[in-house]
Amino acid sequence: MTFFDDKAMTQAEDTTVTSAPQVGDQTISVNVELSGPEWSLRTTLLVPKEPIAPEKMVPVFFSFADAVVGSAAENVERTGEKVSCKMGCGACCRQLVPISETEARWIHDVVERLPSVRRTEIRTRFAEARRRLSEAGLVDRLLHPETWAEGEGWSIAMSYFHLGIACPFLEDESCSIHADRPVKCREYLVTSPPEHCAQPTANTIKMVDLPFRVWTAMARLDNDSPTEGKIPWVPLVLALEWTDNQPQRPVPSCGHEVLRRFFEILSRKSIVGGQSSVVESHTDLGERK
Ligand code: SF4
Repeated sequence: MTFFDDKAMTQAEDTTVTSAPQVGDQTISVNVELSGPEWSLRTTLLVPKEPIAPEKMVPVFFSFADAVVGSAAENVERTGEKVSCKMGCGACCRQLVPISETEARWIHDVVERLPSVRRTEIRTRFAEARRRLSEAGLVDRLLHPETWAEGEGWSIAMSYFHLGIACPFLEDESCSIHADRPVKCREYLVTSPPEHCAQPTANTIKMVDLPFRVWTAMARLDNDSPTEGKIPWVPLVLALEWTDNQPQRPVPSCGHEVLRRFFEILSRKSIVGGQSSVVESHTDLGERK
């Protein structure tokens, strides 16, 4: 089991979404309630009121992912198991980390905001990682996952892992962008011994089971018409290059509309009408299209 987990590409089913927005000066407060056969989650998300660039919504999804992961971890610990991930353990940070295209732009902007010396240092690490991937003939493969054959993802992820390339943000085995780290990093939580993450196999890694993957719903937000079921994604290690090669950014849109589409994708049921019609009557997520 690695960061790159084909199972993670699946979507949640049997969820319901509720929200009761409160409109403030700058933000809309959205109460979210999700439930499935054996789990439920309530949280509140603050969404910018004005139309914004998609990457500005990323912190909202971070907050949601943290709520999902936190709740799943609590459930696991109630059964007596213990989450073994902790500060200073970067054993998983040499794996292939898939992120959504919007997060790739987010990561690019995180790096661009760094002071120039630091930015150069981080960009140099990205360049060195790319050099090693290029030597291994992996750059084109990683930039075009849509061309991968069925089942090829695992072998490419293993080839990547065996290169031992540390994430450019990893320092002293800790994440140097902890608050800004991608959703996939937040979702990788294990109860197996941490040393197993340095040699991951399906038999030795026990991940905390999540009811759904937030990062795949984010990736589908970027393109909800995946070719042959393959959603678009970018390897974290190539996020700067990918973004540099895409100078045109998506147009801004209203945060609550983005959130509405996100939950539609997550639940695969329309928030408007059907099972959620009662909910719709006291939300403006549908009405503000
Ligand atoms: S962003 Fe942080 S948590 Fe994610 S792989 Fe890199 S160092 Fe690890």
